Amino acid sequence: MPVDAHQRNPYETLFNLPKPKCCSTGDCCKGVSPSKPFYTLWQQAANGDEFARNFLAIMQPYTNHQAAQKIVPGVVERTLASAKTLDDFPNGEDDVVFYRCRYLQHDNRCGVHEDRPQFCRDYPDTPFIVMAPNCAYVPWAKACKAQYAKLKNDTEDAKALKEALLAAKRGEAALPEIANTTIAALTEVDWANWPWVLSLTPLYLTSPQTDVWLSPASMDFTKKL
Ligand code: SF4
Ligand code: SF4
Repeated sequence: MPVDAHQRNPYETLFNLPKPKCCSTGDCCKGVSPSKPFYTLWQQAANGDEFARNFLAIMQPYTNHQAAQKIVPGVVERTLASAKTLDDFPNGEDDVVFYRCRYLQHDNRCGVHEDRPQFCRDYPDTPFIVMAPNCAYVPWAKACKAQYAKLKNDTEDAKALKEALLAAKRGEAALPEIANTTIAALTEVDWANWPWVLSLTPLYLTSPQTDVWLSPASMDFTKKL
């Protein structure tokens, strides 16, 4: 799913991590599985959801998991492992359907490049469960995820410090030694950018492609410190 060259992902700015170029493997167009089970997707489409409608308009389901596994084994393996852990997939693997785009050409180029749906233009900011293991964006996504985890830890540290400072103010405890240095560090943080993190919650940060699962529910950066 080649991304618009001019399109700049907010994480590129927030983390200063330029996104690499797509190397046109086509795996993201021939091994697709949304982050919702097929029956939820159909229900959303019936209710007029634009993403669900566009998705079902261009995607053809594989007959079964084995058929998809022959084409994109890495995607299938990761997706099925992920489905076992998600509340949205109460029946685990049985709720997963893999799709291939009907417009992907034999040379792995998009047959409707100029008219492709928005979710193709936004890739990898799309609600798919996992990225293909050989996708050019995987190292970039891992780097983003590491930065994201650091941001999360910094938030927890800041909250703990706030509690310690309040306790000191109430006379319940001594001022923590770390206070001065941490306050200095916190002034370096670009606080105005933090709410972006919660508003995006892209799947490449929550996917099981690395060991730590960061569920969207755990992303509470918008709570005031
Ligand atoms: S429309 Fe083009 S970019 Fe989108 S999934 Fe199909 S082949 Fe890939
Ligand atoms: S899987 Fe990654 S590298 Fe391959 S076509 Fe899709 S975006 Fe490009």
